[in-house]
Amino acid sequence: MPIYIARGRLTTPGASKPLQNPAGKLRGKLPVYVLTSAVTQDWAGVSFKLRNEHVWDGFIILALLEDHERRGKTLRVPHTGEQRFRFTKAMDERNARIRLVGQPEWAHYCNRCMRVWEDEKGNLSKIHVVVIDGITIGHPCCGVLHCPTPLASNRDRYCPDHVDEDKKCAVEGCGVFCDIDNGFLTCSDPGHRHLETVHKKRDKAMFQLRTRRTAEITAEEFEEMEILSGDCPATKDPNGNRKIRALFGWRKSHNEQIIVRPCGMIIARATFFGSETVTQTADFIHKTFRTKDSMPDIVFYDNNCSLYKHLVHVEDPLVKTVGFPVDVFHWECKHKKNTVECSYHCSPLLFPELIGEQKAWHFNSSIAEQTNVWLGGFHAILREMGASKFDFFLDEMIMRKNKLTLAKLEAEGACPGLRPL
Ligand SMILES: [Zn+2]
Ligand SMILES: [Zn+2]
Ligand SMILES: [Zn+2]
Ligand SMILES: [Zn+2]
Repeated sequence: MPIYIARGRLTTPGASKPLQNPAGKLRGKLPVYVLTSAVTQDWAGVSFKLRNEHVWDGFIILALLEDHERRGKTLRVPHTGEQRFRFTKAMDERNARIRLVGQPEWAHYCNRCMRVWEDEKGNLSKIHVVVIDGITIGHPCCGVLHCPTPLASNRDRYCPDHVDEDKKCAVEGCGVFCDIDNGFLTCSDPGHRHLETVHKKRDKAMFQLRTRRTAEITAEEFEEMEILSGDCPATKDPNGNRKIRALFGWRKSHNEQIIVRPCGMIIARATFFGSETVTQTADFIHKTFRTKDSMPDIVFYDNNCSLYKHLVHVEDPLVKTVGFPVDVFHWECKHKKNTVECSYHCSPLLFPELIGEQKAWHFNSSIAEQTNVWLGGFHAILREMGASKFDFFLDEMIMRKNKLTLAKLEAEGACPGLRPL
């Protein structure tokens, strides 16, 4: 029998009033309720064992209720259907809202992430900074490269738009139907079939090493090898031999990118499917800061040299208004400085405004990397989550971390606030 908790009162379906609270006492802050004998009979055969699903439901319901309370709305979920699907629509709605309007701290500023100073002529200047970095955590996603459409079920290898791909050879670019009736995921091309045989042998060896349920979602299982050019489109290459690559398991989204203020406030997050490319990073910046005034003055990113080159190539006006330095440690130790972008445009030494009154770097440009260490702690929890729960969970954890960061900034006198953008 389900229990409904409404405004702190414990009730059962059909009960006209809350369960008895004979003593009317409070233990701590919570009222103590005693189950009547009629109710306890109904509970016969029901296990009180706390399972993972109960904890998840508790987490999701609390997060959704708080989200609705903040907006003065009522949370409505279906009373029919499977329990695991009851909150999916409500989670998707919040995920879409956060994607559109951003995290509540999206317009944050404080004196750790925004520097305001007076020049020799008495003019006030300001720079507001963000740091971008990625982390390779992901969730099962559609096997078609860069496809963002969620899977209907975590057991599927392709999204509803690409279901037919499941019948095709696993070798990327092949497109011929596979011999699925005989248990093969590749077509009859000898090279493709050989790749599958090698993969199955490796898989068998791995299976003996670690006990694994056959139905369990596995990590991405790519296999690749050098092959002579053949007639198949996947191996057609004017330069002769080339590598073929096949996906035998489930594809996972490639990485999560975050935009963080140097004070630690996380203001945006995005999933990059397939790979991390500067085109996607540029798109992420534009989608996060849609108005001119909201655009940061400085964007730190480890791959700014390539990002800057891309922005110049596509004639993006951002290169004229935003500075794209590389974090000083990365620039000194990991960049070759053999291009004009690397040695000049993205050199942190050419941005004197990044140095504060104390003649030291004013901003913590490693903050995104440090934040990603924290995010990486959720790796094991996130690994097999569906896209809706994955996004919902990450957004919720970011919101909760931001609340702690805000309290810390207030306590330390960093004067945090929200810009009226
Ligand atoms: Zn700040
Ligand atoms: Zn797809
Ligand atoms: Zn093939
Ligand atoms: Zn560089």
